Amino acid sequence: MNPDLERLIRLQQIDTFVESARRTVADQPAHVQALESRLDEAKRRLTVAQEALSANQAARRTLEKDLAAQQGRLSKFKDQLMEVKTNREYTAMLKEIDVAQQEVRRTEDRLLERMLEADELSGAVKTAEKGLAAERTEIQQEREALDQEIAKLKTDLDASVGQRQALVKQIDPRALSIFETVARGRKGLAVAEAKDGLCTICHVRLRPQKFNDIRRNDDILQCDSCQRILYYAGPASAAASTSEWIPD
Ligand SMILES: [Zn+2]
Repeated sequence: MNPDLERLIRLQQIDTFVESARRTVADQPAHVQALESRLDEAKRRLTVAQEALSANQAARRTLEKDLAAQQGRLSKFKDQLMEVKTNREYTAMLKEIDVAQQEVRRTEDRLLERMLEADELSGAVKTAEKGLAAERTEIQQEREALDQEIAKLKTDLDASVGQRQALVKQIDPRALSIFETVARGRKGLAVAEAKDGLCTICHVRLRPQKFNDIRRNDDILQCDSCQRILYYAGPASAAASTSEWIPD
């Protein structure tokens, strides 16, 4: 391969890495913020579940008080029944007892409903507690992984500066100037692989003669459409990708 073409491919790998690494570093605060929001959401779900359970407990306490009062009234009526003197009083008291009994049954039913509901709500609190604990662990791990990734990217970014400078010095000025001109106009992406007769970035079909020339990799040739410098990596080109840069 033409040594300058090889260096330009490497230069592109460095520039692509730098671009992507800088973006990841710049995105770090937003990424951390998103993790914090996830934790806040899990905390909020637990609070909602706890509040529902507290409301249920308060409602139960109120019903229990009501029930005690209603039962007191009922037994008072039953005592009074023993002391009535007339039939009319007796009938009236039976009616009072009947009403009081219905009231007690209604309250007992409502209390039972609340107790069944409490089982569900306690289950929901436990689920939310587990969810929060799991989320906390997961977020902590993601934070650590993110911190490590960012630290590594920063180290690699520092290393890439020196490597780029050294590499640029070795490139023929004319070839470097083509690279820089195209890079400026194409968002930093000046080198493209040619594959199956196509420029793999702008997807324009290359003239057969041009594609044959590119396949030899012995000159700095540009795509007629996007002007990017083209190289050929072989029919199955997993090996030489301009998107991957591994620091020396
Ligand atoms: Zn192209």
